[in-house]
Amino acid sequence: MLIAPLKPAHEVTLSTAEIIRPPRRTRPTDAVREGLRTEKGPWSPDLTPYCTEPLDHLAGRRYQGIVFVGPARTGKTMSLILGGVTYIATCAPGDTLIVQMTKDAARDFSRMDLDRAIRHSPELESRMSPRARDDNTFDKFFRSGIALKLGWPAVSQLSAKTLQYVLLTDYDRPENVNNVDGEGPMWGQAIKRVETYMSRGKCLAESSPGFDQVDPEWRARLPHEAPPVLGILSIYNAGTRARWYWRCQHKGCGQHFEAKPGLDCFAMPEFDELTEAVKQHDLMSLATDWAKVACPHCGGLHTPEQRSDMNRMVTKGDRILGATWLHEGEQIVDCRTEGERRRTQIASYWLGGVAAAYQVWPSIVHVYLQAVLAYAQTGDEGPLRRTTNTDQGAPYLPRSVTKKRSAEDLVQRVEDWPRGLIPQGVRFLTAAIDVQSYGFVVHIMGWGIGLESWIVDRFKITASKRPEGERFATIDPASYVEDWEVLIEEVVERTYVTAGGTEMKPRITLCDSGGKEGVTEKAYEFWRWCKRRGFRHRFRLVKGTGNLNAPRVKQTFPDATNRKDRKAGRGDVPVWLLNVNVIKDGIIGDLARAAPGPGYVHIGKWIDDGYFEEMTVEVRTPKGWENPNKKPNEAPDLHTYNRAACIILRAERIDWDNPPSWAAEPDEQDAVAMAEPPQRGQNPSWMDTPSTRTRGRKRSYW
Ligand SMILES: [Zn+2]
Repeated sequence: MLIAPLKPAHEVTLSTAEIIRPPRRTRPTDAVREGLRTEKGPWSPDLTPYCTEPLDHLAGRRYQGIVFVGPARTGKTMSLILGGVTYIATCAPGDTLIVQMTKDAARDFSRMDLDRAIRHSPELESRMSPRARDDNTFDKFFRSGIALKLGWPAVSQLSAKTLQYVLLTDYDRPENVNNVDGEGPMWGQAIKRVETYMSRGKCLAESSPGFDQVDPEWRARLPHEAPPVLGILSIYNAGTRARWYWRCQHKGCGQHFEAKPGLDCFAMPEFDELTEAVKQHDLMSLATDWAKVACPHCGGLHTPEQRSDMNRMVTKGDRILGATWLHEGEQIVDCRTEGERRRTQIASYWLGGVAAAYQVWPSIVHVYLQAVLAYAQTGDEGPLRRTTNTDQGAPYLPRSVTKKRSAEDLVQRVEDWPRGLIPQGVRFLTAAIDVQSYGFVVHIMGWGIGLESWIVDRFKITASKRPEGERFATIDPASYVEDWEVLIEEVVERTYVTAGGTEMKPRITLCDSGGKEGVTEKAYEFWRWCKRRGFRHRFRLVKGTGNLNAPRVKQTFPDATNRKDRKAGRGDVPVWLLNVNVIKDGIIGDLARAAPGPGYVHIGKWIDDGYFEEMTVEVRTPKGWENPNKKPNEAPDLHTYNRAACIILRAERIDWDNPPSWAAEPDEQDAVAMAEPPQRGQNPSWMDTPSTRTRGRKRSYW
């Protein structure tokens, strides 16, 4: 029998002494400066001076919550999370949970950031348990006996045993952050874990803002208040609300002013003026011109090179001669802090992108201008939202919210042209179909230069070709695939004429594939039917996604063969996933355009009142567009599908000086230049039926 040799007494003592070591009374910033190293060298508070005050609260008794809102590239994860772990491990051991946005992110953080930091930091490494089984991806143990756990937003992770520290990274990124498994916001669940430790328990969250602002009328009642948005900014508002202040570098001034989140520090024109400027000028030179910060007291300009000096914290006695955090209620007068900060259990901080250590001003402005240009060209707000959140550190206010029009405003813009005639200016048509329990609702849109658009037709199809007594049965899309076949004749192959006599059919038809039980299955069946008859490129299925950060359109092949609730998807039917919220935002913006031209939406006088009602029932919330009273809302959806059709056709990128033949002037277009004529010998069944026979019965106009 083999017996492991006993270790010498001094080694045993060394490896267990940590368990009984009393907490060291060290300022966390100093502990991290001594203890944390990466492959680039030791951590220094001088690079990210704004992180020191929040970090130091890990030691104090005053605050249980610490919240840091800031853009990417502030060094906040390094300083607060890895720094936090360093302080906890070396000075104030306690069981700790780090929550990442997903399980994969937790694994990456463990393997990349944490393991590397431990490897490069002798202070940290010497405190790790020497036993191999104490070092796993999601669980690590220290000699002191404390556990460091890596988790993700799930009740199973957050409802674990009592902890002394919970560190939440990228707080606003997980989709479920406002309601984790039905148990409410992640913050509330996290803070419960540390309650047993009273003031020694700490819950720290850091993130850039990720939720939209939806009230354009909102005005701050107190200087540091954040707009009412979900996620980390709502916790910020419940805290002390600190903002970062710089000291003016101009001699004779030396006053302090706020490094505001967003772009307010830069003297840039209003949005409408900007959208014109980005089309005409070189973005880099505009960015260089605008990337300067003026002191609101003396008007003196600061250049990008001065930023690191402005960020430096310098004090002399009680005089603040450099940058500083000011909490709500505090002011700085002649370099001295006055006033009383809010009383709350949470120390909260919100840093703007202008102060972030690792990004320069011209690049903040340049990325923004690129996003403005993308919006001007395509109506896509995705890049604007991303740069506002991650580069500027601010919540995004969708254009649609600032531009929301009432039904009266829409009624005001109707124009007189005959229904069904292709108005002048239209280069190609698209069609969109919404599936209802009683049939189909259809919008035909015409598109011109710069995607100026016209509603060419709007109608319902309610009568099927199934005889029922003396007449035809009502369409039942959830039950009869043959009821879908009317769509070929009535929509896909429908012909419209210009005043000059040119005929056009919809270049592409998008049809919703969701809805009542059975609809998805029948939609897939019908698409396979279309494919057999050569219509698969001109008839496409779509499905909306509520994820605000999804691409505007994305082709997917749903495969439910292994699922219990399978809806006939076997991975063979392409379904375009649409980010309906983002596309709709763009449309509402387009509807607010004042003058005809690119992006403008023309509405014919012939349109029914229902259209205007449908267009105004939805409200934009932080989660997207919602229909609170569940009133009919087909019109905005149909606008969305038609717009998506343009994205799928790549019509946003058309060079209108040299357009493809299908987008040329109507009289230059080849009348039969359609994508896919039906294949020979496979005439679709609708062709057997003279279309005049049932016309008028199947279609009901408003
Ligand atoms: Zn000044």
